[in-house]
Amino acid sequence: MKPIHTEVIKVNPMYPEPTKIEHAAKLLRSGEVVVFPTETVYGLGADAFQPVALERIFSVKGRPYSDPLIVHIADEHELEQLTTTIPSKAKQLAEAFWPGPLTIIVPCNPRVPHLVTAGLDTVAIRMPRHPVALALIRAAGSPLAAPSANRFMHVSPTTAQHVLADLGGRVPLILDAGPCEVGVESTVLDLCSAIPTILRPGGVSLEALHTVLPEVQPPPQRHLENKEAHLDTTAQASPGQMLTHYAPTIPLLLFDGSIETMRDTMLTEVKRRVRQGERVGVLVADEDIPTFQDSGAVIRSLGKADIPEQVAAALFAGLRALEAAEVQIILCRNFDEHGLGLAIRDRLLKAAGGKVFR
Ligand code: AMP
Ligand code: MG
Repeated sequence: MKPIHTEVIKVNPMYPEPTKIEHAAKLLRSGEVVVFPTETVYGLGADAFQPVALERIFSVKGRPYSDPLIVHIADEHELEQLTTTIPSKAKQLAEAFWPGPLTIIVPCNPRVPHLVTAGLDTVAIRMPRHPVALALIRAAGSPLAAPSANRFMHVSPTTAQHVLADLGGRVPLILDAGPCEVGVESTVLDLCSAIPTILRPGGVSLEALHTVLPEVQPPPQRHLENKEAHLDTTAQASPGQMLTHYAPTIPLLLFDGSIETMRDTMLTEVKRRVRQGERVGVLVADEDIPTFQDSGAVIRSLGKADIPEQVAAALFAGLRALEAAEVQIILCRNFDEHGLGLAIRDRLLKAAGGKVFR
């Protein structure tokens, strides 16, 4: 791709300035891509009904066409252009969680371009709650297909600076409304399977979904989840083994177990590596800081371990901060699976290439 100038415009996150939104919407209507904030992560948006614009998403990200896109709407009336039948469960969920970080998979309207669905007969739809996202979709006059605004395989961006680091020179415009509130991507819920099933845990917890649809199934257990790694034989998780999208550019070792075991095992491994002259980063919670204070590692805290909203909001920025600190390896503790914890564990497991040290 020939480098282009990337304009970054600061937008008021609560009351987006109409002239700035119109500037971005005009680009979208003309078939361009625009980066915009949502409550989950920053999105790389294009008009969902313009194949030329959709093509740009894939080339800007380096994303394979086999990976379908989520379509973002601002009004439930837009569902009619995208689906053939609106399941009653979709209406119940929309009532409870839209606008918000829930994506539903429903039967696809044949009008939806194949670039959005990767040729599937279903489509992923969500209504974000960020005022800038809603204003932009309305001004563009069309639903926006938008994956996370990072290079394929990299960590999702939660600030405009993260986007600039990945996509600067590749997109014409980034709307900067400050850090994202939720910090992990939306929950993807399949409503086309016999029993509604979570395909990706995210910003709406399983517990919250159960208050509306008690039959919702958690994501299928990843077969690698129980595969424990052994420090002496597989200490170097290779980037090639990484499961998918959420990988930092440096290897990450994930530690699980009781809090005492987790801290002990991590600290021993940190000390061993520091002694060998390695530059080590640790990703921990506030209450773990004293343990690692004098270990020689670069420490980054994600907040209080028992407040998953805090940890989720800090997670991707924490991974990127350790990358920027040029550590050679990241050692990270795991978190409980209640609430947003399920999404946090999922992203960490992916970043660790599916291996957990206990
Ligand atoms: P991203 O936009 O990069 O956060 O990823 C979108 C997520 O939604 C991916 O995990 C996709 O596999 C998933 N997705 C999108 N459309 C569909 C669909 N029709 N069926 C199942 N999963 C989908
Ligand atoms: Mg993504």
